Amino acid sequence: LGWWDRIKPAPRDPITGVTEAFLADPHPNKINLGVGAYRDDEGKPVVLQCVREAEAKIGGSEFLESISAGVSSKLVEESVKLVYGKDSNVIREGRFAGVQALSGTGACRLFAEFQNRFFPESHIYLPDPTWSNHHNIWRDAHVPQRTFRYYNRDSKGLNFQALLDDVKNAPDGSFFLLHPCAHNPTGVDPDEDQWREISHQFKVKNHFPFFDMAYQGFASGDLDIDAKAIRIFVEDGHVTGCAQSFAKNMGLYGHRVGCLSVLCSDTKQVVAIKSQLQQIARAMYSSPPVHGVLLVSTILSNPDIKSLWVREIKVMMNRIQRIRAALRDSLEKLGSPFNWEHITKQVGMFCFSGLTPNHVDQLAKEFHVYMTRDGRISLAGVTSGNLSYLANAIHQVTC
Ligand code: PLP
Repeated sequence: LGWWDRIKPAPRDPITGVTEAFLADPHPNKINLGVGAYRDDEGKPVVLQCVREAEAKIGGSEFLESISAGVSSKLVEESVKLVYGKDSNVIREGRFAGVQALSGTGACRLFAEFQNRFFPESHIYLPDPTWSNHHNIWRDAHVPQRTFRYYNRDSKGLNFQALLDDVKNAPDGSFFLLHPCAHNPTGVDPDEDQWREISHQFKVKNHFPFFDMAYQGFASGDLDIDAKAIRIFVEDGHVTGCAQSFAKNMGLYGHRVGCLSVLCSDTKQVVAIKSQLQQIARAMYSSPPVHGVLLVSTILSNPDIKSLWVREIKVMMNRIQRIRAALRDSLEKLGSPFNWEHITKQVGMFCFSGLTPNHVDQLAKEFHVYMTRDGRISLAGVTSGNLSYLANAIHQVTC
């Protein structure tokens, strides 16, 4: 037997598999609703103007060495302000252990390794459903996982009571992963009162909330409003963790820029936690690439460029809002007997459409429209140009 004969191919990733099928289809009207990357109304990827301006500022300034601690700490310092608020006690007192991470995925992975190393008996509770890669990340970090109920298939909204029951029934002191805004894949977020209640129950149960914030700004169009859930938990005195990604809200997918922050009770803990996180990162990938970090820290620390970024987030989200309204409207005008209210009620980049795996297969085969089999539509893939074709295709397969 050869060295590799016993190794079988890994199962296809449900998200990257969609893009592969899309690329292999030669049809001129094909639509890719699989990837969660922002596109403009012509279906083209966007380089934000704030990124171009930061690029012009940093051109030629980087050294071909691993990143200096100064640049890295600027990134962390500015990133955490986005999460906890620039005037928050956490920031003022420096009560966070923050490290730069390889985008949102890397931040989650670092935290999962940390959890495994120091809480080897603990589980991670993931929402059902969640971004499929969460399952892979905690699996590969050898942390056993459980799920908690989140989504109500009938209302296509939050299953709040079931969520609370699962929070109450988990063993005291459990780790929970929460999406603070623009939940992927459902587009369903708790409202403010519900977050307060969840935070209260977490307090009662002494659970640890780990926030995976991959879409700050993409739920409401406003960075502070989208951080509200985390700030409620912090106000309530929780120790929290947060993974941040700049992939979506700065359109820097390929640069892999992110941040992991873990709140602590005092500065002694900060030193311990930060050095442990750095040690884990050191053995996994040593240090992250320089260029994206310079871009993000330049944008965040320069007031003019930062306000340009804030405006550009609004522009992106306004387009998505318009598409939501237009898609719902088109389906209703076609005389669809189904209720499509959830298209405009859900938030963020995705619509959890309620289309079944059969519908999804039929859309691909007959209409060259591609999405994940859970019926998640990435609204970024919908444009003024393909909207009526898409609405018609959805109408045909559902009626
Ligand atoms: N977390 C969630 C919920 C996501 O949807 C994604 C991306 O799809 C990520 C994390 C990680 O994204 P990235 O590693 O590209 O920052």
